[in-house]
Amino acid sequence: MRIVDFFKDLIAPKKCYSCHKEWLFLCKECLEEIWYFESICPVCKQSSRNFEVHFYCKNDFVYFDKVIILNHYKNKIIKKLIKDAKFYHRKDILQDLSIYLWNKLLSSIDEKNDEIVLISIPMFFWKKMLRWYNQSEVLIKSLADKFNIKYNFKIIKKIKSTKPQSHLSKIERLENLQNVFIFNKKELQKYKHKTFIIVDDVVSTWTTLNEIAKLLKQNWVKKIYWLCLASD
Ligand SMILES: [Zn+2]
Ligand SMILES: [Zn+2]
Repeated sequence: MRIVDFFKDLIAPKKCYSCHKEWLFLCKECLEEIWYFESICPVCKQSSRNFEVHFYCKNDFVYFDKVIILNHYKNKIIKKLIKDAKFYHRKDILQDLSIYLWNKLLSSIDEKNDEIVLISIPMFFWKKMLRWYNQSEVLIKSLADKFNIKYNFKIIKKIKSTKPQSHLSKIERLENLQNVFIFNKKELQKYKHKTFIIVDDVVSTWTTLNEIAKLLKQNWVKKIYWLCLASD
């Protein structure tokens, strides 16, 4: 984006990326028109009620309970919105999308607002310092402000830097995540028997999520859901 375009965008009113109507970056009508993500089980990819992991897919190694996804990353409007938010640090795009994310969450869970806690996937401290913008934390803060939901960024810490998971084999992924996360017992004890919701923009491999879910489930967390804007 040229610097002139950037400033033009700053003063211009918000417009829907699809129909160019003013008001939101993606209007409700356009969201409804584009391809919704079908409710499937993240393990076997077959249809499942409210994105639940089928009980027969929950072998001893699957620790999370649902992966709730708003839309397809293949959709070019969704892809552009997420990319602009990430690379141009457009918090306002994520704030608009968070409203749809919330509606999707409400229609996919049975828990009440006071039974859930939002958390982000932790980043290694120097990576976080270098990036200074964590889209997962922006989404969470927007949801917490708008809908008065509890959140906590201190529960899980990443104590080692890891290689990007997408380039590794299944076994390498697991090895890559060995002893990478630790949790803060004091913080975690505040939320005994609550449902934790990990919020992110795009679904990556679920090995990381599963490692975090494993740690949390060993420590009185009732359920772990993953809530994402898009997935392939
Ligand atoms: Zn529109
Ligand atoms: Zn399944």
